[in-house]
Amino acid sequence: MTAGPSGARDEAWSANRLGPLLALVSGIDDERELGRAALERIVSEVDVEVAALIRDDDVELVLGSAGGSEQRTLLDVSSHEPAIIELQGIGACWAQAIPVGEDMGLRIVVARRGTEPLAAGEASLAQSMCMVVALGVRSLRLLAGERKLRARSEAQTDANARLLVALRERQQLLERLSHVQRAIVAGEPLHEVLEALSEVACELLDVEIAAVLIADPNDPGRARVNASVGIDSELLSSHDGIPIRDEIGVRAVPDDAKAWGIAAGMAAPVRERGEPAGTMVVGSPDAGREFGSRERDIVLALAEHASLALNHERAALEAAHEALHDALTGLPNRSLLLDRIDHAIRRAERSEQAVAVLFCDLDGFKTVNDSLGHSAGDELLVLVGKRIAEYVRPADTVARLGGDEFAVLVEEIGEPSDAARAARRILEALEAPFVVGGREVYVGASIGIATGTGSVEMLLRNADLAMYRAKSRGKSRYAVFEPEMHTAIVERLDLEVDLKRAIAHEELVLSYQPIYRLAPREIAGLEALVRWQHPTRGLVTPDRFVPLAEESGLVAELGRWVLRAACHQAALWHAKYPGYANLQVGVNISGVQLREPGLAADVADALAASGLDASSLTLEITETVLMEDSAAVVGRLEELKSLGVSLAVDDFGVGHSSLRYLKLFPIDNLKIDKAFIESLGGSDDDPALVRAMVDLAQIFGLRVVAEGIERSDQIAMLVELGCELGQGHYLSQPLDPPSADSLLLRSGLLGQDSGGLRGPEDGANSETRPHPTERSV
Ligand code: C2E
Ligand code: MG
Ligand code: MG
Repeated sequence: MTAGPSGARDEAWSANRLGPLLALVSGIDDERELGRAALERIVSEVDVEVAALIRDDDVELVLGSAGGSEQRTLLDVSSHEPAIIELQGIGACWAQAIPVGEDMGLRIVVARRGTEPLAAGEASLAQSMCMVVALGVRSLRLLAGERKLRARSEAQTDANARLLVALRERQQLLERLSHVQRAIVAGEPLHEVLEALSEVACELLDVEIAAVLIADPNDPGRARVNASVGIDSELLSSHDGIPIRDEIGVRAVPDDAKAWGIAAGMAAPVRERGEPAGTMVVGSPDAGREFGSRERDIVLALAEHASLALNHERAALEAAHEALHDALTGLPNRSLLLDRIDHAIRRAERSEQAVAVLFCDLDGFKTVNDSLGHSAGDELLVLVGKRIAEYVRPADTVARLGGDEFAVLVEEIGEPSDAARAARRILEALEAPFVVGGREVYVGASIGIATGTGSVEMLLRNADLAMYRAKSRGKSRYAVFEPEMHTAIVERLDLEVDLKRAIAHEELVLSYQPIYRLAPREIAGLEALVRWQHPTRGLVTPDRFVPLAEESGLVAELGRWVLRAACHQAALWHAKYPGYANLQVGVNISGVQLREPGLAADVADALAASGLDASSLTLEITETVLMEDSAAVVGRLEELKSLGVSLAVDDFGVGHSSLRYLKLFPIDNLKIDKAFIESLGGSDDDPALVRAMVDLAQIFGLRVVAEGIERSDQIAMLVELGCELGQGHYLSQPLDPPSADSLLLRSGLLGQDSGGLRGPEDGANSETRPHPTERSV
């Protein structure tokens, strides 16, 4: 170590000793390297034994000291105050830290043996050397920063250029696609959308040929060209489709594409509801044209748009079909039928012909629905629709109007008999059984025919009216519309309106027809028969308004009224005539009423309100209702039976009597229909049938009532056959309550056994006068 002179000379000397360091520093381009060189210079040039480079709080490098244990000691040396430190292998040292530049996180600690401070010149040399180091480090750092910056900015420019191209392309693609999307959403025809997509493909990919192939509805495994650009239309017309494949890329290009001029290309699947349903093909006649990932992305995007258009169109078609067709049978619905009738009428008017509308309402459908369940009912409706369609001409329209109603539009009718022929064909078609839920079922139809031109609604309404006529004449037949049907239906509608009022205004009355024990003759009970005392029409019989009440939903209310009135009357008679302890009152229950859930409650209410004993009430249910033998009917009957009332099968024999239900249902009485009683004692007298019925009833432990006894010989015969009870005009007409009351009084006074009722010869019927106003309307 050389002790340096002072003053100007000192400075020159100092500069001389700094020069090599400067030269050294500028030649080094690594900061660590620079640090080492600087420390070496300091240790050799300045009068210190140890120099250490400290970066932040780390001792990066120490020169002149052997160990590493003094690191902590060196870190603690401050740049403000010199310190005496103990260094390994050296002993006590004077030490000071010198910052290397500002904010560079670097300092150099110098230490010399002993406790003597560094001479001023030496100290200033050390300071200056540190400044040189700082300069070197800063310029190194700047350079590195700049290099990095340059590298970054160079990379950035490249990327930006690429990005710009990509963005422009993307923008272009998005613009084109959004244009296509708008067309799709606007419901433009599929072909036009696909054509636009083909054009976009050519433009974006810079290819000459593009095509979209879509599955052929008649041959869904093959796709045909729907839209294309750059393919000769003649080539396309002779092309018979390609098999649909689920492949993307260069290999997906169909072989046929060569014929269209594609030497190199790419394809992607078009899908319908996720399943391959076509393909989008793009290509170029240039075999060297390359297709990479960019092209692949674009073709995929275009194919996805073709899929979108296809699905959109299919959904729109389905919605349109749904709006015009019946969901269950797939047949045209009412709206489509009305539309077709409208067109047919216009065509017919031009050709001076007529159209016919056949309105078909199934007979017995409800029975199938109730007994076999709704899904069987649905199945049957589908089969019926198909069967009808098979039997009419292909040009005719078969529609389902709802429920069990179908309609057929028959065009080009020369004469009305043409329509009747069509109706007969339909009736014939329905003759064969249908197999539903593994069972054979039969349904007929009532068909109304209206022919002509004019308004659509009128034609359909007239056919509807004619159908009602067909139905009322007995089922499985047709009726041709006649203008008077219109009057009849209007009258019916009026009656329906009036009936609503009738129940509230107490216009209903009950007649009571006595039921007699035949031998010895005595009154066993009375059947309540409802009548309507109409303010202008007079007395209306139940056959005119009970069915109406059933159809219009009024029958439950009507039934409740009858039950209450009859039970009330019977309770009065029981109180007044204790001699008739077993007097029964019969109340008719309609089929519709029986199916309603509140019937048992209504019966219980009527009994409770009147105080009548349940054992005095007999509910009469017509055989045809019971024939429906559904589980619901059995349940309902058992519910009624549990109230303690008796049950009678009314009009027995008119339905296709089945022994099965006699066993199945909890019934007490069998009322043989008057049709069978009528034949007794006549010229074609054959009591065999009635005898069989009476025997049957006895086997099942039922009491028999003969209905409609009109002559004395019928009674004699019935007694001989063992029939216990009977009613009919011969015995008594239905009576108004006062007349029934006086009959009961007289019979009771005279004693029933003595034959309270005089024979018709002695004027029984004048005594049993009918309701004062009772007459048919
Ligand atoms: P139904 O229960 O079989 O009643 C017997 C019908 O035969 C009654 O007709 C009665 O007047 C009539 N009749 C009685 N004796 C003779 C006779 O000797 N010869 C002939 N030809 N007829 C006779 P009506 O009163 O016109 O009742 C007809 C049907 O209306 C009844 O047949 C019944 O099914 C129904 N009905 C009557 N009242 C009610 C009621 O309150 N509710 C319900 N749901 N139906 C009722
Ligand atoms: Mg009856
Ligand atoms: Mg009857």
